[in-house]
Amino acid sequence: ARKPIVGGNWKCNLDKAGVSALVTSLNGMDCTDCEVVVAPVAVHLGSVVDNVKAPIEVSGQNCNFKGNGAYTGEVSADQLVDMGAKWVILGHSERREYFKEDNEMLRQKLEYALSKGLKVIFCIGEKLEERNANKTLDVCKSQLEPVKDLLKPETVVIAYEPVWAIGTGVTATPEQAQETHKQIRDYLATVNADMASKIRIQYGGSANAANAPTLSACPDIDGFLVGGASLKPEFADIIKAIA
Ligand code: 13P
Repeated sequence: ARKPIVGGNWKCNLDKAGVSALVTSLNGMDCTDCEVVVAPVAVHLGSVVDNVKAPIEVSGQNCNFKGNGAYTGEVSADQLVDMGAKWVILGHSERREYFKEDNEMLRQKLEYALSKGLKVIFCIGEKLEERNANKTLDVCKSQLEPVKDLLKPETVVIAYEPVWAIGTGVTATPEQAQETHKQIRDYLATVNADMASKIRIQYGGSANAANAPTLSACPDIDGFLVGGASLKPEFADIIKAIA
């Protein structure tokens, strides 16, 4: 059985006081039956690593496609590792959309991050017009195909995040989410059946305490990547819903 994993993607939110308060509330959570990973903004990563209690692990939200060097504004995987992060989120739709990260760039980032020993939450998902044109699976496949040889259940988690559900309050129904998760897993089985059966696929997009129980009951949903609700006490309820 796949162990559920819930990620809190804090995005570009919180100040020092907010980070400190959130870490305090995380430290009171029970996360025995579920892996929990939180992704603060890079400037707060060190303080979260220093203050959050195991077994919660810390993730970057992005990293450079290469190591240290003349890459103004970037954070390298080497630096994330040195700071104590165990994970990095790559390919989030906000990175793809606003920062023009394409599949080729994301392959380089994934390969580099894995080579430095980071585990990766690799995000995929279709836009509304793509879903309406019945292109959901095509889009997910096109995002996974370039990295298929790098997908290992021990080191990579896939986050299926339909773009139309992110930050909108419009969550995919359990039927929609399960259907797409299953199609993604079936596609992965054409790459490697054993990998497909073991790799975890999170759902992301307006996940909250109310919808987490029905979504997490779906057979191919192995947890969540949570944005807005990960900043609130509700995050603990999402984790409880899975256990
Ligand atoms: P919301 O939970 O705010 O919709 O964000 C989802 C997300 O993008 C997580 O990476």
